[in-house]
Amino acid sequence: MGKGTVASRLIEADPLLWLSRSWTTRTQRPGEDPEAYVFVDRDQFMAHMAAGGFLEWAEFLGNLYGTPLPAPPRGRDVLLEIEVDGARQVVARHPDATVVLLVPPSLEVQEARLRGRGDDDAHVARRLAKGQEEIAAAKAFATDIVVNDDLNTAVAEVAGIVERLRSARRNPPSPTTNED
Ligand code: 5GP
Repeated sequence: MGKGTVASRLIEADPLLWLSRSWTTRTQRPGEDPEAYVFVDRDQFMAHMAAGGFLEWAEFLGNLYGTPLPAPPRGRDVLLEIEVDGARQVVARHPDATVVLLVPPSLEVQEARLRGRGDDDAHVARRLAKGQEEIAAAKAFATDIVVNDDLNTAVAEVAGIVERLRSARRNPPSPTTNED
C-alpha cells in the first residue's frame, strides 16, 4: 500500500480535498484504473510542458510525470501525490505548501509491495534504490514525515495534518502578538 493508496483513501473520506490527476508517459499497468493518470506519449507531454501547462514535472525511472496547473473547484484543498523532485518545484512556487513525506516502514515491506503489484525484478530493484535516495532528499524539506506501516494509521495521520492546516487557516496568528 503505497502513497497512491493513502491518497485515494484521504479523498474518499474528505469531500473538501481535491486530488490532482497527473500526466505520465508511462504505459498503463495491467489492471490499473485508466483514470489513474492522463496517459500520453512523450510528444504530447513535451508540448504541454512547452506551453507552460505543468505546475511541476519530473522524470522518474525513464518516464515523465507532471502535475497540470491545478484548477480545483472553489473551496477545495489540493492534494498532490508526487515524487521528490516535483515536490521541490512545488515548494519553490508555493513556499507555504505542506510536504508530507510518506516513508515505508522497511525495505522489506516496500519490496513486497512493489512485487505485489507485478513489477519485474529489475524494476523492483531500481524502485527500491530510488526510494532510498528520495527519502534522503525529501527529509531536507518535508514539513511532516509519516511512516506508512499500517494503512489506517497513516491515513489518519495525514488527515490530522490536513485538519491542523485548516485550523491554522481559520485561526491565523494575530499580527499584534508579535510586537515585542
Ligand atoms: P508510478 O509509475 O508508480 O505510478 O509513479 C512513479 C512515481 O511518480 C511515484 O513516486 C509517484 O508519486 C510519482 N508521480 C506521480 N505523478 C506525478 C507527478 O505529477 N509529478 C511528479 N513529480 N511525480 C509524480
